[in-house]
Amino acid sequence: GDTPGISRTRLHKMGWHSSDTAQLHFDRVRVPQRYRLGEEGAGFKMIMGNFNGERLAMSAMALGFAQACLDEALAWARQRQTFGAALIERQAIRHKLMDMQMRISSTQAWVDAVTQQADAGQTGAEWVAQVCLLKNHATQTMQFCADAAVQLLGGMGYMRGTVSERVYREVKVMMIGGGAEEIMKELAAKQLGI
Ligand SMILES: Cc1cc2nc3c(=O)[nH]c(=O)nc-3n(C[C@H](O)[C@H](O)[C@H](O)COP(=O)(O)OP(=O)(O)OC[C@H]3O[C@@H](n4cnc5c(N)ncnc54)[C@H](O)[C@@H]3O)c2cc1C
Repeated sequence: GDTPGISRTRLHKMGWHSSDTAQLHFDRVRVPQRYRLGEEGAGFKMIMGNFNGERLAMSAMALGFAQACLDEALAWARQRQTFGAALIERQAIRHKLMDMQMRISSTQAWVDAVTQQADAGQTGAEWVAQVCLLKNHATQTMQFCADAAVQLLGGMGYMRGTVSERVYREVKVMMIGGGAEEIMKELAAKQLGI
């Protein structure tokens, strides 16, 4: 990082504030050969080897964020009183919570299945397609739950300090980073021979 010719420009982001994402500039940088990682010309292959694990980890993260939103929304619904009753007494509110639970349950089952397959050594095309589609499903679950939780918390959901507000700001990077949705669909289709 101290090599002459390397400089950084800080990027200001919607979320992920604790991650110091920056644009890197390389101006006639010379790197001694002893610092090379892996074989010459094999860099992209090495990065590709990391993609599936990253996408699977992001799926599990998205699931956790979704669950955190449901937990906060449920606690709020039990506590918050409007028009003489707790929110949880309203059918519309219970349905919203169950819409969240339904997506979380399906994502949980899929994460469990794909990680068990990984532990069993599966890395084939069909498994890669599952990872791509799971990442889309999990991050859509996160998006749905963040949106539903903020709505259920009402004005409080718009306030810094609530979990749901924070998760709401973290949704898009999960849907774009590590392979954007559209690219995940294309890759899955290719792996499935479609
Ligand atoms: C906060 C943050 C941290 C990041 N950290 C890292 C990191 O550590 N390492 C790293 O390597 N990358 C990192 N990225 C980069 C990230 O992986 C890319 O932003 C992401 O893969 C999307 O690429 P792009 O931004 O170039 O979008 P683009 O490729 O310009 O795509 C723009 C939009 O068009 C869609 N699109 C593109 N091509 C097609 C097509 N052929 N058909 C249909 N739709 C298409 C995309 O899906 C997307 O919705 C980070 C990004 C962010 C925001």
